[in-house]
Amino acid sequence: MKKILVCFVFATIVCGCGQQNATEAESNINKGSEKNGETLAINTTDVDSAINKNSEKNTESLTTLTAPEIPEGVVKFDKTVPEEKRQEIMEKISKKYLMGQFDPVKDERFTKILSPYGSKSNMYMRKEAFEQFKAMHKAAKKDGITLVIKSATRPFNAQKSIWEAKWTGRRKVDGKLLDPKVKDPEARALKILRWSSMPSTSRHHWGTDIDINSFNPEYFDRSPGKQEYQWLIENAPSFGFCQVYSEMGEERPFGYQEEKWHWSYLPISQQLTRAYGEQIQDKDITGFLGAETAVSIDIVNKYVLGINPSCK
Ligand SMILES: [Zn+2]
Repeated sequence: MKKILVCFVFATIVCGCGQQNATEAESNINKGSEKNGETLAINTTDVDSAINKNSEKNTESLTTLTAPEIPEGVVKFDKTVPEEKRQEIMEKISKKYLMGQFDPVKDERFTKILSPYGSKSNMYMRKEAFEQFKAMHKAAKKDGITLVIKSATRPFNAQKSIWEAKWTGRRKVDGKLLDPKVKDPEARALKILRWSSMPSTSRHHWGTDIDINSFNPEYFDRSPGKQEYQWLIENAPSFGFCQVYSEMGEERPFGYQEEKWHWSYLPISQQLTRAYGEQIQDKDITGFLGAETAVSIDIVNKYVLGINPSCK
């Protein structure tokens, strides 16, 4: 019998990270998973019991997720699994993957972003997306443009650190700490949502989306950001990348502010966007401070699906 080795690693990360500093969050992901992650090597038949075992030990959010299909969490194969089977398994899209409940460091589908493509070590993205980014980086270089990835995959716990630091007033939101007098949870959430995703709803969970060169909108108004952005507008689509958070207006009435730095690798992410809309409901978004606002905000419809229509 073909044996599939599935490793579940649920990293618990404790750090104070702001949205701009997704970067810190990411280096902590790796530290966190090394320090706190628990790895189980099991047969697929043991999946349910392993999930239950881990859920009891870890965050509340994990206990609320059901796990009907493979791959759940991180997928690793032993030598007996043939190539065709690997592809088939890797193409399955689970709720846990969509919601960032896995560790990219240990996942076959992901690769580490090497120098000089990333601004720091310990960043990961989907292998195919990284290959295309490298090709795009090379083409840009020929035109005198340098593209550097500032942030890539951020699993649930990394996003939770960013979100809760803002929610509790430890990190700035739009240049200042959230006013403790703003007691209404929905109002607090909406302020954070201008620029940061709720854990479980970030496209950065998927490994298909990257932030390039700067998180500061003003950076792209003048040289060199202006030329870099112009280059991306003209060339990124031919490498499969799309600016999901385009200018807000009639075409994109809901969601995050425009992000000229955030680009998504469509050959993979289009399927994930579709799967998210089909598989995840607002009530599935749990496990962090303020999660109860997901339903009244209509988070899936307005934010996860509130993207540039040409990237859908
Ligand atoms: Zn981003």
